[in-house]
Amino acid sequence: MKKDTQCVHSGTYRDRDTRGVNTPVFTSSSFEYLDTPYNIYPRYFNTPNQRAVVDKLCALENAEDGLLFSSGMAAISTVMLTFLGSGDHVVLKEDIYGGTHHFVTADFKRFGIEYTFVSNNTEDIEKAARENTRLIFIESPSNPLLKITDIRAVAEIAKSKNIVTAIDNTFATPINQNPMELGIDIVIHSGTKYLGGHSDICCGAVVSTESLTRRIRGSAVNFGGSLNADACYLLERSMKTLGIRVERQCMNAQYIAESLKDNPDIKKVYYPGLKSRQGHDTAKSQMRGFGAIVSFELDGQKTGPSEFIRRLRLITPAVSLGGVESLICAPAETSHEKLSDEERKELGITDGLFRLSVGIEDSADILSDIEQALKTT
Ligand SMILES: *Cc1c(COP(=O)(O)O)cnc(C)c1O
Repeated sequence: MKKDTQCVHSGTYRDRDTRGVNTPVFTSSSFEYLDTPYNIYPRYFNTPNQRAVVDKLCALENAEDGLLFSSGMAAISTVMLTFLGSGDHVVLKEDIYGGTHHFVTADFKRFGIEYTFVSNNTEDIEKAARENTRLIFIESPSNPLLKITDIRAVAEIAKSKNIVTAIDNTFATPINQNPMELGIDIVIHSGTKYLGGHSDICCGAVVSTESLTRRIRGSAVNFGGSLNADACYLLERSMKTLGIRVERQCMNAQYIAESLKDNPDIKKVYYPGLKSRQGHDTAKSQMRGFGAIVSFELDGQKTGPSEFIRRLRLITPAVSLGGVESLICAPAETSHEKLSDEERKELGITDGLFRLSVGIEDSADILSDIEQALKTT
């Protein structure tokens, strides 16, 4: 089955008695155990509503098994702490999600876990790997500058050194990129974003091989960050339209990026779909579409950053991303607020940088809102 068909059909649990076409919501936290092959319990990550979504995501990511979490960070922290303990070392891309960055810098020291942040350069990742490196964690495209990592190259390096690899695939979505097909071991999503797609649920997901998922589940059951049935139901419903939403969002994003590229009031546009962008060829070799996040830096001559964001009428200044509505934020004030001024400067996150999550609205309306806020119309 192709992606759009998997979105609609994969994983659906049909009730044999009523023959409803959708998965029923199983609100039970208690399930009978006599004469059953295993115990079902929400925190064991194995209820029918959890299974339905996991099966759909596994189909989309070409994975064997997975787990659904109560947030993206629950998924990320559980994966990290499954493979890392005192004395271990992890290599991470420097431009990962702000929350992941903060988790590492705030908590790893007291767990005795060593870490190295590396640039986008594959050679730097290779150099950073040590005897005690147990995990390589990447994100591509990254937040907020949409940098592209050569995923195949990272997977190859890790395999040669026997290191487990994990990728945060949130920005790409399973519609555009399937890292396991490129050799990555574990794929993580903040389902709060594109999988949920309507800015009304918070959830996370991990998919992998059967054996690695078994290991992650071992920790996950102890940490307890599983997803409840109601959120599973909303997520399953949303994922039926994931393919068509993301397709439209990518088309809109390409249009916005190309239009802003030629706007004299914009200093720089970050979008992997632009031929002029560094990483475009790599993106093309590992992605079917370039995603729907466009970051740009204001020139600042005519309109200052705070004036610009207050003048927007359609695009909402709000955190998070991936929903049907266009949202914008200044990473310096939101996702990367916890970083020091120096760290932000090193990463290229200036005060005039904006991250636009392009929605499914008409692209001309999105563009004209930006233009009127820049006072160019
Ligand atoms: C939002 C986000 C997360 C964290 O997800 P939550 O659901 O907010 O916990 C992780 N990675 C990326 C790339 C994100 O955008």
